[in-house]
Amino acid sequence: MQTPQEMTLAQRHSKILQKIQSHAKAGRGAAELIAVSKLQPIEKIVEVHALGQKKFGENYAQELSEKAEILKDKDIYWVFIGHIQSNKIRKIVTWAHEIQTVASFSHAQQIARHARELGKIPFPIMLEVNAGNEASKSGIPMSAIRPLAAQIASDLPELQIRGLMAIPPESYNDAACQSTPPLYQDLRSLASELGLGLLSLGMSSDLAIALEAGSDMVRIGTAVFGSRNS
Ligand SMILES: *Cc1c(COP(=O)(O)O)cnc(C)c1O
Repeated sequence: MQTPQEMTLAQRHSKILQKIQSHAKAGRGAAELIAVSKLQPIEKIVEVHALGQKKFGENYAQELSEKAEILKDKDIYWVFIGHIQSNKIRKIVTWAHEIQTVASFSHAQQIARHARELGKIPFPIMLEVNAGNEASKSGIPMSAIRPLAAQIASDLPELQIRGLMAIPPESYNDAACQSTPPLYQDLRSLASELGLGLLSLGMSSDLAIALEAGSDMVRIGTAVFGSRNS
């Protein structure tokens, strides 16, 4: 058996796609793969894109802008999944096709304004929940999601709410959980109430439980690209 390190990018990408396919749910189909390319070199993105991968996730505004500029002739859909800083919002809206980490009305207003100025409306967003209420994580508590969604829906027609994005505590992983955790079921139900009703849940370590819970898109970095440069 090959260890994940010995597999090629193509093999790892295909293995993740197969795993996603194997958890496809009746009526919902297979989840979508966002290949998280933060801190990965351009050459690897080009290689994975050549395999048919269209959506890539980035966490840092500067890195996103540099990569998107270099790769602007390719049909890549850039998803911003990093912590948002106010002074970087214009840069993010300029290069990203979607922002999944909206966690305040003020950021939503600024995204809406830049999207209007840049002619990118309606601009797709997701609301980021801090599912475990961890001090170290961004996002807002589950209880704050519905009011924020309602305010955005009524005041910011420039934004299209696609649903909910979550980064659960690390204790939720495929090795530790035998079945779908109740938290994941709660995230699934909450997401279904918001905008287009989509749920962005699942990273390399909790891919299986996220898919079992009915996630619509998984954000996979290391399991596709290998470890990151820091
Ligand atoms: C880095 C990152 C991922 C990918 O994590 P892996 O463990 O490498 O799969 C997914 N989502 C977010 C928000 C991230 O920051």
